[in-house]
Amino acid sequence: MYRTHTCGELRLEHKGTNVTLAGWVQTVRKFGAITFVDLRDRYGITQLLFGEELNKVLEDNPLGREFVIQATGTVSERSNKNPNIPTGDIEILISSFQVLNKSAVPPFTIQDDTDGGDDLRMKYRFLDLRRNAVKRNLELRYAVNRAARNYLHQQQFMDIETPFLIKSTPEGARDFVVPSRMNPGQFYALPQSPQTFKQLLMVSGYDRYYQIVKCFRDEDLRADRQPEFTQIDCEMAFVEQEDILNMFEGLIKSIFKDVKGIDYTEAVQRMTWEDAMWQYGNDKPDIRFGMQLLNLKKPATVYSDKTDSAALINGADFKVFDEAETVLAIAIPGCSEYSRKQTDELTEWVKRPQIGMKGLVFIKCNTDGTYKSSVDKFYSEEKLKAIADAAGAKAGDLVLILAGAEERTRKAISELRLEMASRLGMRKDDEFKLLWVLDFPLFEYDEEGNRWVARHHPFTSPKPTQIETMINNNPVIENAADYLNHPYASIKANAYDMVLNGNEIGGGSIRIFQRELQEKMFAALGMDKEEQLHKFGFLLGAFEYGAPPHGGIAFGFDRLCSILGGSESIRDFIAFPKNNAGRDVMLDAPATIDQKQFTELQIKLDLK
Ligand code: ASP
Repeated sequence: MYRTHTCGELRLEHKGTNVTLAGWVQTVRKFGAITFVDLRDRYGITQLLFGEELNKVLEDNPLGREFVIQATGTVSERSNKNPNIPTGDIEILISSFQVLNKSAVPPFTIQDDTDGGDDLRMKYRFLDLRRNAVKRNLELRYAVNRAARNYLHQQQFMDIETPFLIKSTPEGARDFVVPSRMNPGQFYALPQSPQTFKQLLMVSGYDRYYQIVKCFRDEDLRADRQPEFTQIDCEMAFVEQEDILNMFEGLIKSIFKDVKGIDYTEAVQRMTWEDAMWQYGNDKPDIRFGMQLLNLKKPATVYSDKTDSAALINGADFKVFDEAETVLAIAIPGCSEYSRKQTDELTEWVKRPQIGMKGLVFIKCNTDGTYKSSVDKFYSEEKLKAIADAAGAKAGDLVLILAGAEERTRKAISELRLEMASRLGMRKDDEFKLLWVLDFPLFEYDEEGNRWVARHHPFTSPKPTQIETMINNNPVIENAADYLNHPYASIKANAYDMVLNGNEIGGGSIRIFQRELQEKMFAALGMDKEEQLHKFGFLLGAFEYGAPPHGGIAFGFDRLCSILGGSESIRDFIAFPKNNAGRDVMLDAPATIDQKQFTELQIKLDLK
């Protein structure tokens, strides 16, 4: 037996017990004739005391950092206790030990505050994983995994595996493809998600399915994306949207409870996509704080019945506002006393290329009731007050206004809102606010192809009242500049996203389950019959054999863990992540393959 206890287990109550521990040498401290060794394993750290006799042995065979040793001795009370660790009251008086394996000097310190940079730690990820900080993240990930499984099991969901080698049907992201040796010239694709399989399982009668599953998308890696990532993927039959929302609100609340001890008893807030875009400029608003947008010019994007406040800025002959496609304002609480230097800094902030605005207009709502602005020349104090009031500003607040092209301005003000909230400490790691965003548009306009693409995926159903609009209108867009006036632009989907603290953590939809409607949907997306059958014949066929109404959702498991763990980066919660260029720097993958492998696959490279 290698050990009787772990390095995190022994307490004063074990005093006098003879024990054997095994683990890694964290530190070696020599004090005259005795030596202290901190021994570490997954469970903690225990101090070992090597007396005079063994000390001599150590002199000839010194222990180095990360050596793996086994040591036997008696638990004794420490004279100098360490209140910072659970085993801090005791130490082990070692009677014998052996080195199980030596270690090279690690390239960085295995400590919470390590001296290793990102790249080095990625290269030696197996050492990085020994660090407490990383270990805690993986423990949290496992806790989320268990909580999800427990809840779903209680709700009679069945975990059913689906294949990784499937057919390439790119829609949205690019597929990773795998050549088939046995079928020369043919390729599998790795699934972007098990979407069609889970729908087939509904047809098969497994009315509650889930899987914690890897998904693969060959996308350009924006910050903090991974080419392979994990979803909690779920599907249910005989459900309406309301059933799904309730069931998965339950899942997240159950995870909160089990993992964080948080009783999230309030109902999850709901917001339509239109309201989210109108009030926050963003389809995943962080609602831990207010600062809603004031639309000073109605954006072109189709909003059913939102009125704009253009009257507040019109007639002042201020060209920047008059000529802008969109003008948006937010009120920042308590910042009216910003100095010139501070407003200049904010202006520079919005001018950075990532934000891309030309400038920033501000109105200071002074506590003495006066208003001061960077556009005093154009607007009377009365007008400034009217704008500030409409933006919801109170005395002491600072109103920030951006003007420009619609999409960019909307993005910029969303970023500015988050930035200001962060600066003002309104985005606390330990505060969690869930939100359902509902009624997404069914289609999105793809400028490049001048066609409609599915905003979620092509299996998402339109709102029942808008099915006719989809079926009875020709999808062709005659005039690209005017695509917003095409009837398709206003069709809403039975789709929903769950948002946590400004992050989309899950998304799904009620599906189409009739062959005819699915065919019409494919046609709306510009797929002719042949392409439909080639890509999705199996699904269309299955829909002819008693497909029940169904719907589902998938949660981004890595992202959920990182938010619950209070981190910005999903990489911290993945045991062996890829870097920003999609490389595994530890394995040095991707890499070339042997000529023999190419020959077997009958593949010739034609690198450009
Ligand atoms: N498969 C979808 C996705 O990966 C989620 C869903 O609709 O259930 O986004």
